[in-house]
Amino acid sequence: AAKKAAAAAMAPATTQDGKRIEVAANANHPEQAAAAVKAGAEGVGLMRTEFLYLERDSAPSEDEQYQTYRGMLDALQGKPLIIRTLDIGGDKQVPYLNLPHEENPFLGVRGVRLLLRRPDLLEPQLRAIYRAASHGPLSIMFPMITSLDEVKALRAVCERIRQTLAAPEVPLGIMVEVPAAVAMADQLAEHVDFFSIGTNDLTQYVLAIDRQHPELAREADALHPAVLRMIRQTVEGASRHNRWVGVCGGIAGDPLGAAILAGLGVQELSMSQRDIANVKAMLRRCSSGHLARLAADALRCPDVGAVRALAARLDSVLE
Ligand code: PEP
Ligand code: MG
Repeated sequence: AAKKAAAAAMAPATTQDGKRIEVAANANHPEQAAAAVKAGAEGVGLMRTEFLYLERDSAPSEDEQYQTYRGMLDALQGKPLIIRTLDIGGDKQVPYLNLPHEENPFLGVRGVRLLLRRPDLLEPQLRAIYRAASHGPLSIMFPMITSLDEVKALRAVCERIRQTLAAPEVPLGIMVEVPAAVAMADQLAEHVDFFSIGTNDLTQYVLAIDRQHPELAREADALHPAVLRMIRQTVEGASRHNRWVGVCGGIAGDPLGAAILAGLGVQELSMSQRDIANVKAMLRRCSSGHLARLAADALRCPDVGAVRALAARLDSVLE
């Protein structure tokens, strides 16, 4: 039985009618990537590189980063890797970066806002990524994108560095986690290769609830219909330019969340490795018709309680 379960975890998530949903893992270290592959991950959909920068006295060198990115690719044995550039802001303690104190760090110089002000951080990271790019399939993803100007500025830096290193071209994508990026998704899609929706931050910014707020944590649910409508808008914007959309926030690993996201047309779900087998098994037992109807009903719900109550419907499909 254990052998059968392991084989099922390795098989792809294909619905009853043959629609395939990519299931990837969020992993930050080569050992995590190797474990994720064993758990059935089809790639790493989110490598949070800030972990390379925390709890130390100076930024990781270009060479150290290169070794880590190569280590990830080696662990993945040909499966794709999405490296997210440094996403840090005033809410994290990184003394050597000398970040000024901010009253509202989640609304401050965070993610690409910091990188575009700090070529000393952006350029070594991009150089390390482009050097690693000849060792396996990787993509670059930028966090906290708010405007097309940021995308254009970042693409220009990437292209300059790529040419200097004579490195291969790699897909460039963005996190969609700021409501402005959702509103402009159809235009942003023209200038990037893919979107990955960061539902943790998108929920925080749509509902105006601090994602770390102890008292409001339960209300900050990514299945809130307001968030789901934004996900639909993002998928629609992307499809106008034939771009794929993934989700790498926590809701991707929630069975009901994964079903609704797949029904909304999300093509890749990147999650904690422990959720992979469960989500794959659930998707395999659904048809794309079930998933689309579930998503359509979720979009019409008046509140998050009503969306969560749809779990009963998912259970009956699975019986
Ligand atoms: C997100 O915001 O949903 C996300 C995946 O990124 P992080 O949790 O690292 O902000
Ligand atoms: Mg985020």
